[in-house]
Amino acid sequence: MDVFSNQFIEGLQTEDIDLLRSIPKTDLHCHGSLSMRRSALENWANIEIPPPPAVYPTFYEFINYIRTHIHPHTDYREGFEFCLQSALEQAIQDGVHYVEMSLDLKFLEFYESPADFIQIVYSIQQRFKPQIHFAPEIGVKRTLNASQIEDLVHELINSKIFTSIDLYDDELAGEVRDFKNLFEYARSMGLKLKAHTGEYNSASSIAQTVEILELDAIQHGINCVQDEGVMNLLKSSKIPLHICPTSNVALKRVDSLSNHPIRKMYDHGIIVTINSDDITLFDHSVTEEYLALHRLGVFNASELNEIRLNGILQENA
Ligand SMILES: [Zn+2]
Repeated sequence: MDVFSNQFIEGLQTEDIDLLRSIPKTDLHCHGSLSMRRSALENWANIEIPPPPAVYPTFYEFINYIRTHIHPHTDYREGFEFCLQSALEQAIQDGVHYVEMSLDLKFLEFYESPADFIQIVYSIQQRFKPQIHFAPEIGVKRTLNASQIEDLVHELINSKIFTSIDLYDDELAGEVRDFKNLFEYARSMGLKLKAHTGEYNSASSIAQTVEILELDAIQHGINCVQDEGVMNLLKSSKIPLHICPTSNVALKRVDSLSNHPIRKMYDHGIIVTINSDDITLFDHSVTEEYLALHRLGVFNASELNEIRLNGILQENA
């Protein structure tokens, strides 16, 4: 319990979203260029974006929606900087006081040098510092060639601006082992190690990824429920799983929020947190995730408060 726990519980029980938004919380799984509200992008770029479906029929259609309706307005320097700042403003409005937000390596292409990119990220971090602890995360696609990006990633790590690294993108592509050296270097420099796994790949892949990369946290990991042994491993290792329930429904990883395996994981004793993933595409802030899970009876208010506190413990972990 913290000093906000009773208010958070009351906010859930009375469905008072303004009260809930005033309570400190974390977002430990979100992506820098897809975490602003769509309406904010529409206003800034003076465009209209067709709303995405609540559930994307296929992963291809999800990617196609981003490429067709979002990237043309964001994939350049000013677009990226707008997205990042707008995402932080959204998080502040939602009561998020600590955010681990991945910044994909592709954004470096918009800058003359890695140093320019690092400087911009640093200046944005400093500008928002009074309102939010923005912990920039190095976002590495697993489809990249690890040896080709080594120098670049080392430069980002050496800047000491980034406090975590996340391996993501197509979970069925590439070899996790190829990134072992990069992750070892990141660990030696004090970064937190994370990877997307167990969203599309199997429970055994989760166990392998944790072992090979020596992860500190897992992004998604929901397929662990397919294997009791993997669930036991996650429980005993105390590795937190940063779950994004609405994202999992929208991408047809689970059939509904009310049947989300996060309940089973929680009951097993696995440490879980609740996060937003891509607000631009899924329309759910962290506060809205908590409220939806409470409304559907997936968790009671005290349990959701415990999960909120799990996130807060990660801030200095
Ligand atoms: Zn993600």
